[in-house]
Formats: sequence, C-alpha cells, structure tokens
Amino acid sequence: IPAAVCLRQVEKYYGAYHALRSIDLEIAPRERVVICGPSGSGKSTLIRCMNMLEVPNSGAVLIEGTNVMEASHHAASALHSVGMVFQQFNLFPHKTVLENCTLAPVLVGGLAPQDAESRAMSYLDKVRIADQANKYPGQLSGGQQQRAAIARALAMEPRILLFDEPTSALDPEMIKEVLDAMTALASEGRTMVCVTHEMGFAREAADRILFMDQGRIIEDASPADFFAAP
Ligand code: ADP
Ligand code: ADP
Repeated sequence: IPAAVCLRQVEKYYGAYHALRSIDLEIAPRERVVICGPSGSGKSTLIRCMNMLEVPNSGAVLIEGTNVMEASHHAASALHSVGMVFQQFNLFPHKTVLENCTLAPVLVGGLAPQDAESRAMSYLDKVRIADQANKYPGQLSGGQQQRAAIARALAMEPRILLFDEPTSALDPEMIKEVLDAMTALASEGRTMVCVTHEMGFAREAADRILFMDQGRIIEDASPADFFAAP
C-alpha cells in the first residue's frame, strides 16, 4: 500500500524567501504525526502543501500514491481524501453549524441532503456540539466553533486529517475541549498530521514528532525519543 502522504524533494519559495528546503517525508496510513518548531520555520507551509493550498515550486506531493501536483481529475479526487482544520476555524458565518457541515458533502460528495444531515449530526455529536447544530458560528464559543470545524472536516470522511495550529486562536479554557476531541479522533485509525505547540497532546496522541527549523525537518522521532533527556 502507498504512503498516505509522500513529499519528495519539495522546495517552496515565497518570492526570494526559501520557505521549504528539500523536504522528503513519508507518512504511513493511520500514522499520527505532530509537526512543531519555531514560528516561521515552515510548519504551516508544509502542511498546506499536503492539500495543495500551497503548491511547491519543485518536487512531488503524493496522496495515497497519486501525484496531486498534476492538474487532473485523478489528482482532484485524491485530494478528497484530505480534510483540514484551520487556526481561525474558517466557518461560513452566514450558515448554521449544520449547514456548514452539509455543504461540501452535498456539493462535492454528491450526498442527498437528508443523508448529509444525518451524517453531519453524527459527527457533531461525536465532538459534543449536536445541541448547537442550528446556531450560527458567531453564537458559539471559540472552542465550540473549532469543534464545529472538526465536525465539518469529518463530514467529508477524509482518510487523512490535517490540523494547522487548531488551538492557537483559543482562550486557554477552551483548548482542552478541542484537544480532547482530537485525542479521541487519534484513537480511530485515521491518518492525522497536526501542526501544534501542544506538547502534552504530542506526547499522548502522536506516533511521531517532526521538528522544523528554517524550512527543514531537523528531527523526526517517536515521542519517547523526542522527549527523552539528551
Ligand atoms: P510557521 O507555520 O512555522 O510559522 P510558515 O510556513 O507560516 O511558518 O511561514 C514560513 C515563512 O514563510 C515565514 O517566514 C513566513 O513569513 C513566510 N510566508 C508564509 N506564507 C507566506 C506568503 N504567503 N507570502 C510570503 N511569505 C510567506
Ligand atoms: P502561522 O500562524 O501559520 O505562522 P502566519 O500568521 O505567519 O501563520 O500567516 C498567516 C497568513 O499570512 C498565512 O496565510 C500566510 O501564508 C500569510 N503570510 C505569512 N507571512 C507572510 C508574508 N511575509 N507575506 C505575505 N503573506 C504572509
């Protein structure tokens, strides 16, 4: 079976700025990876290359064996395997939580509206906000909004779930409820890649920790080795 995510010799520039430097990375199906490192080291750029929110200048990105840098129908459908949760939630403000969660399954996934709704409700229930389904994002706390964003990503049933600093925009009292939801997901056998500074989550839920600095992966270790005293 192919890697869930494979990056080969990936280079990314923003103008003259070299943001990713010869990244080689394979993530196996069901692996749970945390990416950490200083601000500006390229973590967000790296994870955004895994769903083509950023396109590398050179190298290859393969999702489940398909090169998604090619503009083809095949590449587009491979990207349907990848879901993403953002720092700033990115919910549609003028749609209810439930509508946020049914939009893509209906429009992209081709589900009948009632099937999309029952699926969305099951994921809202999983992240414990089924009771907020008919509210608008602005009526929810930050932690509830982020859990809605997780449910929205899950509603597409992606085999690979990406998180880009999902707790960084939250007040401290709301971080735990989001990390608890992520920890529960991490036990379900989905491939997860999380950019986060939450080292407790990394220790508890990850199989593998990548440490980035200046556009390179400078450490790639198990949590036990990563946290071992030098
Ligand atoms: P991290 O997630 O580790 O904080 P990023 O991947 O967001 O790092 O950014 C890496 C570097 O690339 C930073 O110096 C950042 O300012 C720069 N950068 C990120 N996005 C852009 C962009 N769209 N245009 C120009 N520079 C960018
Ligand atoms: P992060 O929290 O992931 O480090 P940033 O706050 O650095 O993100 O960047 C937020 C957004 O601004 C991202 O979309 C990033 O691509 C963009 N960005 C970051 N640095 C620059 C830059 N120097 N020039 C233009 N856009 C940037």
